[in-house]
Amino acid sequence: MRIGVVGGSIAGCAGALAAARAVPEAAVVVFERSAGALRDRGAGIGIQHERFGELAAAGFLDASLPATANDAREWYVWDGGSGDRRKGGGSGGRGNSDGGGTSGLGKMILRQPFPFDGYNWGHLYRSLRGRLPSRVEYRGDARVMSVTPTESGASVTLTDGGVEHFDLLLGADGYRSVVREAMFPGVVPDYAGYLCWRGLSDFAQIEGLPHGAFFTVGFPHGHLVAYPIPADDGRVHFNWVLYATVPPEVTGDLRTATSIPPGAVSDALLDFMDALLSRELPPLWAEAIRKTAREDVFIQPIYDFEVPAYAKHRMLLLGDAGAVSRPHAGAGSVKAMQDAAALLDLWSTAADRSDLGALAARYDAARRPPGHAIATLARRIGEAQVLDTPDWSAFEEATFVPWLAALTAMPDGTELGGRRL
Ligand SMILES: Cc1cc2nc3c(=O)[nH]c(=O)nc-3n(C[C@H](O)[C@H](O)[C@H](O)COP(=O)(O)OP(=O)(O)OC[C@H]3O[C@@H](n4cnc5c(N)ncnc54)[C@H](O)[C@@H]3O)c2cc1C
Repeated sequence: MRIGVVGGSIAGCAGALAAARAVPEAAVVVFERSAGALRDRGAGIGIQHERFGELAAAGFLDASLPATANDAREWYVWDGGSGDRRKGGGSGGRGNSDGGGTSGLGKMILRQPFPFDGYNWGHLYRSLRGRLPSRVEYRGDARVMSVTPTESGASVTLTDGGVEHFDLLLGADGYRSVVREAMFPGVVPDYAGYLCWRGLSDFAQIEGLPHGAFFTVGFPHGHLVAYPIPADDGRVHFNWVLYATVPPEVTGDLRTATSIPPGAVSDALLDFMDALLSRELPPLWAEAIRKTAREDVFIQPIYDFEVPAYAKHRMLLLGDAGAVSRPHAGAGSVKAMQDAAALLDLWSTAADRSDLGALAARYDAARRPPGHAIATLARRIGEAQVLDTPDWSAFEEATFVPWLAALTAMPDGTELGGRRL
């Protein structure tokens, strides 16, 4: 049996690992268009403790993956005081507004238990890649141009014109998936109407920031999410994601799914961010973000979509190829690994491991509902915390807690960080 995997990132490595374990005698080939080591495109990743434990038990995550232990989430608002926000003012006292608006952090409206740790995307990717057995052929610099379903599987055409046939093809090629295009032509990500700027600062260089928590700072038509993650060199990075609506004359046309890497972000978008920091964020948070060099800031416009099915013919979708959720649920990488873990479980317990049609049907039934549920939860959070924001600064703990609980309640048990495997 030959199993092809398009995309060699989180979903691709996890999918190849699942295939190699489920059918040890199969040939598994991964096609990854990037030539060298994958860039740390994701910066920070938050993973919920129980989801981490499930994936470690299933053999996809390393219990020793470097992490920053963050067990609380703190929510801040700028309370509109008259102080000079740019100066950082005050002692940076934790969440205490001094009424004059010069408390560096703003007003803390809630500190809640939050069982998530912060991880470095690069560590996660390298650990997964390192788990691939040597019999998995991982081909870098191998871009798949198109995919064609056949009677007995699917063929991929590479940029050099080469065509290869597989009995089963895993589409792990992210939000602009060519495998998905072959399955459901025209199903593409929808622009949500806002974007995020992202970056990393050196935590040690930012005076007055609290440690050991995830932070959210709300403002009109957006919010900041930030948390510490381990850097490669033993330092701690301040990983930040700043969501906001931005007028189309500043963004340009973002309807076709894209991301803007470091160095390619326009001055207009960087200036817009700078003005936003001055206008809307308590000074310590703004200064923490400004520690990231302008040329290192990158942008992810926010998209989401759902597919009609996770499997068609002999093609299966894993990770973002199957469902991109807005990042607010903090569950995309987890879903990518869970897709692979579920595939491994279904395949290795199948009565007939060569019955790929039955496998595809069971995989679709198992993975489509959680993918859709996470996208639904994340969309709801994005609407409430970016597009149609409440008066953040009016919240007190007593009013904020029920608002947040109603926003995140999902009847099927889906929660921030994903659904139980
Ligand atoms: C702001 C932000 C914050 C996030 N925070 C979290 C979080 O806290 N927790 C969490 O779990 N998730 C989070 N996520 C989501 C997570 O980053 C993604 O869901 C996850 O990285 C998806 O992995 P993937 O392997 O499916 O896709 P990708 O990482 O996009 O990988 C696709 C791979 O396929 C390759 N490829 C594409 N097309 C081809 C082709 N034609 N031929 C060959 N190769 C191809 C690409 O080069 C790439 O390597 C966040 C996302 C964002 C944007």
